[in-house]
Amino acid sequence: MAGNEFRPWRPGLWRFAFPRMSHGVAAGITDRSCDVEGLRMRLAAPAGLAFAAQPHGASVAALEVPRAPADPLPGCDGLTTRTPGLALIIRSADCLPIVFWDPIQRVVGLIHAGWRGLTAQLPLRALSLLRHVYHSDPAHLWIGIGPAIRPCCYGVGREFLPRFGRFVSTRRGRRVCDLIGYATQQLLAGGVPRAQVVDSGRCTACEPARWYSVRREGEGSGRLLSFVMIRP
Ligand SMILES: [Zn+2]
Repeated sequence: MAGNEFRPWRPGLWRFAFPRMSHGVAAGITDRSCDVEGLRMRLAAPAGLAFAAQPHGASVAALEVPRAPADPLPGCDGLTTRTPGLALIIRSADCLPIVFWDPIQRVVGLIHAGWRGLTAQLPLRALSLLRHVYHSDPAHLWIGIGPAIRPCCYGVGREFLPRFGRFVSTRRGRRVCDLIGYATQQLLAGGVPRAQVVDSGRCTACEPARWYSVRREGEGSGRLLSFVMIRP
């Protein structure tokens, strides 16, 4: 599923519109015109914002209290919550922001997955935590994959072949990797129905006026802020 399920929402914010389910959750990402304070104002999360340290690891944590940007939850690249009005936030610029929404258990999650996190099974780890902590059935989950670097722009070295297999291909003489395809395969293997995986279809490196991209701009690039919040 791709296209109009991901669209502009408020100034500087884009959101996922999960079919029939979107009333219970706010999930999306900022563009370059919106920073943390702008997001705080526009999202108006009554229980606050929660940030993770994002060490490019493979840990996900359940969190029911806010964590300031200057004091992010250490050691983890993903957060989950059942607390209405608490907005989980992940920063990215090419890595995949992936949101999770369980409308049955009313639980949300958000992970930051680059190639390291994907090979460490971060999406599956998030599914496992949701199942064990909140009794979420993967068959009920809606997943959103935000703007990230795509095969049009993600040239990789030979060492990606054994890690990513059929998701490495050659385009116009260049070896490229499809991280979105790899992440989707992992989610489907974990029991999420394909029709409930919503892909933004946006490439961070293709639209430099709208998104941040480390590939295009270097490590000094800004970071996009993905968010997910159960509506209070
Ligand atoms: Zn691209």
